[in-house]
Amino acid sequence: MQQHSPELQTATRLTHAGRKGKEHHGPVNPPVIRASTMLFPDCAALQEANGTRRSYARHATETTLALEQALCAAEGAAACMLTSSGLSAITTTLLALLKPGDHLLMVDTAYDPTRQFCDGLLKQIGVHTTYYDPLIGAGIAGLMQPTTKVVFVESPGSLTFEVQDIPAIAAAAHAAGAVVVSDSTWATPIGWDSFALGVDVSLHAATKYIVGHSDALMGAILTNEALHLQIRNTYKQLGMSIGGDDAALALRGLRTMAARLAVHRESAQVVAKWLQAQPEVAEVLYPPLDGAAGHALWKRDFRAEYACGLMGAVFHSNVTEAQVAALIDRTQLFGIGFSWGGYESLILPTRPAGYRTINAEKWSAPMIRLHIGLEAVEDLISDLDAGFSALREPVAIARAA
Ligand SMILES: *Cc1c(COP(=O)(O)O)cnc(C)c1O
Repeated sequence: MQQHSPELQTATRLTHAGRKGKEHHGPVNPPVIRASTMLFPDCAALQEANGTRRSYARHATETTLALEQALCAAEGAAACMLTSSGLSAITTTLLALLKPGDHLLMVDTAYDPTRQFCDGLLKQIGVHTTYYDPLIGAGIAGLMQPTTKVVFVESPGSLTFEVQDIPAIAAAAHAAGAVVVSDSTWATPIGWDSFALGVDVSLHAATKYIVGHSDALMGAILTNEALHLQIRNTYKQLGMSIGGDDAALALRGLRTMAARLAVHRESAQVVAKWLQAQPEVAEVLYPPLDGAAGHALWKRDFRAEYACGLMGAVFHSNVTEAQVAALIDRTQLFGIGFSWGGYESLILPTRPAGYRTINAEKWSAPMIRLHIGLEAVEDLISDLDAGFSALREPVAIARAA
């Protein structure tokens, strides 16, 4: 029951993984351990624990181990390492897999702070990054260099939601001796079978749907066996660790994630269709939506029942940023803020062109990103309807002129 048991359904695994089995007598959940020092009764015990994960709380506690086990079971990973944020899961993994002189192929639609890390610290230590078109597919073979060690994917992409052909990219990467690292935050550990699709390391901003309640930051590195020790070595040297309270919050979030995603997905479909019907909206960026960009690939590679609630919308180019601001400011139920994956709905204006090397000009019209939370969808629609009324008011149009 502690391991990835393919014979059990996903929701069942999320409920049972990382917990003791039927023989357990006591509280359902593991204790929330707040710790730094671990004590040993004598020198022999100290000697025995030395160098193992039981020696010091930075390496593990009963609480963090339970969360690691549950996440491994959720996604079918060989090992899990927990970090202070989603971003530090990304930076730790890239530092572990790349050394001076190496080449990294980074998807152009990566989360912006990932780009900043490539253009900043990685460049400074002599790692060279090439950004590639998310829709490149098997064509990535043409970008591989003898020094290419990592192909980084993020599907759907940040802000613009392009779906990547992961099996084609992974086949080309593996043929050239590179490994595939995925920022799988949108998919969550249960939204696709990452390792079967060819991913070697699957990274998560656990901050989003795993924690699920906007009350903690956390990252998770889920890896196959082959790369486990190489990444853990760097992880240990960097001193990465998380606290017991945050681990307990993430474990609690994970237990209900499948049930929450079902509601996020259902409401997101309704909102996406409603947005599509608004005359000012040129395109809804939500791959689970029938007919949306990337829908066919999404349907092939993702589990439809665990789609999430994050989407984008592109306005026609005659809509101004002032009108979009009027829409956003008028809504009452959609909070204005970064991050997503909590129980609450969020809305943001986005400008992806500033974070793109390829096809930046494609994204010149005003855009928004929406996170569809667990509120009743009728209320969300009325709220958006009020927002669109504000966008249509002469004052918003005049302010823009
Ligand atoms: C939010 C996010 C991250 C970073 O997670 P933090 O916990 O905020 O550091 C990384 N990747 C993606 C795709 C994200 O949306």
